[in-house]
Amino acid sequence: HADLAMYSAKQNGRNNYQFFVPEMNARAMQRLQLESALRLGIDRGELVLHFQPQQHMESGRIIACEALVRWQHPELGMVPPIQFIPMAEDSGLILPLGEWVLREACRQQVIWKNQGIHLTMAINIAALQFQQADFVERVAGILAETGAVAADIELEITESALLASTETLIGRLNQLRALGLSLALDDFGTGYSCLAYLKRLPIERLKIDRSFVKDLPGDTEDAAIASATLSMARDLGMMVTAEGVENEAQREWLLQRKCTLCQGYLISPPRPAGTLTEWLRKEMSLA
Ligand code: C2E
Ligand code: MG
Ligand code: MG
Ligand code: MG
Repeated sequence: HADLAMYSAKQNGRNNYQFFVPEMNARAMQRLQLESALRLGIDRGELVLHFQPQQHMESGRIIACEALVRWQHPELGMVPPIQFIPMAEDSGLILPLGEWVLREACRQQVIWKNQGIHLTMAINIAALQFQQADFVERVAGILAETGAVAADIELEITESALLASTETLIGRLNQLRALGLSLALDDFGTGYSCLAYLKRLPIERLKIDRSFVKDLPGDTEDAAIASATLSMARDLGMMVTAEGVENEAQREWLLQRKCTLCQGYLISPPRPAGTLTEWLRKEMSLA
């Protein structure tokens, strides 16, 4: 019923879905409202990016940041991505949303670079985005449009986007590498990582998911997984970013095991561009 109603609502345009209310369950209704609100929100410029710094562990320098999208809804306030990214993925809205994020993050990277703040910009790419046949051309187009240099951009792709590690997808990763972009495997360890494919993927960085970092160093299972990931990555010639680093004990443990980068509240939460600029200037003058 819900699917049929949504289909009809789309056919008939906005607001007509109210006609179907009695037939729909509350959750489907809520979702449909959220979906049309997001559709409008993208057009109305309600999306904003926050940026979370990534620290090079050995030198202590901030060398990169990750762009994280938020939705500034006029009534709901700041909506976190967990509340709309999955819905955007199901509805296909992730395509215009993801394109906006790519463009905006590249623009900000160039703005900072022109101000003497040189950071690699890490950008999350959803599975559906990556699976577009013309994804590489789209990325190249956005680089050209924003003036961002490929070497300054890292794409974070999740394991689930590579589940079907077909020749086509691997070929696409190679094309992105050939353009000069860096590639990271996000949320490593949470999906169905196929270790046999890992060696075939032209990816230079693994991001250890924060669920494995959270209870370090005390939790022996998490320590075993994080340790194994770090040594495997090293042997495969890959770098590692640890996510969700919140305290010194975690940082120390990761540093001892030669983790390359760390990201988390210990260093900084995600911040709007203006706030991060001030924070970075302070960091740099201290360094
Ligand atoms: P992610 O890519 O794994 O991003 C890291 C998430 O961990 C962010 O949540 C960040 O705020 C949070 N985090 C960072 N440091 C800490 C910490 O020390 N402690 C804790 N507890 N959390 C920390 P956020 O911003 O809510 O984003 C959640 C997820 O939404 C992201 O996970 C990513 O999968 C997705 N997402 C965000 N922006 C985008 C986007 O532009 N496109 C796509 N496709 N997905 C996005
Ligand atoms: Mg990410
Ligand atoms: Mg992640
Ligand atoms: Mg994660």
